[in-house]
Amino acid sequence: MNVPLLDLKAQYATIKDEVNAAVQGVLDKTQFILGPEVKALEAEVAEYSQCRHAIGCASGTDALILALRAVGVEPGDEVILPTFTFFATAGTVHNVGAVPVFVDIDRATYNMDPAAVEKAITPKTRAVIAVHLYGQCAETDELLKICARHKLALIEDAAQSIGSEYKGKRAGSIGTIGCFSFFPSKNLGGMGDGGMVVVREDEALADRVRLLRSHGAKPKYYHKIVGYNSRLDELQAAILRVKLRHLDAWTAGRQKNAARYDELFKGSEVGTPLALPHMRHIYNQYVIRTPHRDALIAALKAEGIGHEVYYPLCLHQQECFANLPSRSWTLAESEAAAREVLALPVYPELPAASLEHVAKFVKEFVTSKAGSPA
Ligand SMILES: *Cc1c(COP(=O)(O)O)cnc(C)c1O
Repeated sequence: MNVPLLDLKAQYATIKDEVNAAVQGVLDKTQFILGPEVKALEAEVAEYSQCRHAIGCASGTDALILALRAVGVEPGDEVILPTFTFFATAGTVHNVGAVPVFVDIDRATYNMDPAAVEKAITPKTRAVIAVHLYGQCAETDELLKICARHKLALIEDAAQSIGSEYKGKRAGSIGTIGCFSFFPSKNLGGMGDGGMVVVREDEALADRVRLLRSHGAKPKYYHKIVGYNSRLDELQAAILRVKLRHLDAWTAGRQKNAARYDELFKGSEVGTPLALPHMRHIYNQYVIRTPHRDALIAALKAEGIGHEVYYPLCLHQQECFANLPSRSWTLAESEAAAREVLALPVYPELPAASLEHVAKFVKEFVTSKAGSPA
């Protein structure tokens, strides 16, 4: 039985008429840049995320760049972030001229360890990026306290976590500023690239983001600062507005699938994700853990079961960051996670029989390896 990791065709089939009509609407209006669909989506995502402001931009990567610039990160500043995340979290720090300072994660949640953040702060530290990995928030209260104490901005990289919650607060609304990605594989994915920056309260901060996304011009052709061309496409916004209406139902489907996996793996050697009671986990990924990960991958490939490693190499181990200053702390939990984690299909349209098949196959394989060396 072939089971893909994600099936966007199955999703499109359920919303085809709505999406096609929305696209046609934009084509008929021919208002392609920052038109009414972008404006409406910004209002809807702001409300969904418990924020007053939302600013559409070209990608999740650009959302991070705009956020870093808007909170005042400058060349030479240090920005603390987990080493176990998607590349963009660090690439953007580098690209604004700042220095990424990598810290370790918590073994159980794969999110940044607040105690590690505290140890990494220096007089040059300007901001901390909390990544809400796989769809669950980082320990944000702890991070907020640390950032308040040291007067640092807290940027939420919520690219994988739109709609996830920390003690009832939505991802993106907790720190200084939040970033979403609409890459097609995210829970709210466009049909192309897209992203958004959200700001809970601070109007001046939101205005800086708006300025930066259109070359820093206000009014048009008068440039106070040097910005970017990073706008959310009107066509993508129209598609995303359709999808946002379905997001909570899709999230419920992901949560149901995750709960079923948890049940099927219970008592086995398969390490299951820890969903904390004070969080709302939205399962952008359902990530298991086993020391026999690489052997399992070979077996899944042969069986036709979709899977992916997020992420096989930590950021401090990347060739492009080989020349960063050395650290006095270890990144051992991140390195262990990079060796042992594996994402399984959890998308909402996943048929129950496929999920049962995946779970049975994985459980039997991992059980057969129990006790043998990794
Ligand atoms: C996807 C992702 C990004 C980047 O988003 P793009 O829209 O692909 O640029 C940034 N950070 C994390 C954690 C991501 O998962």
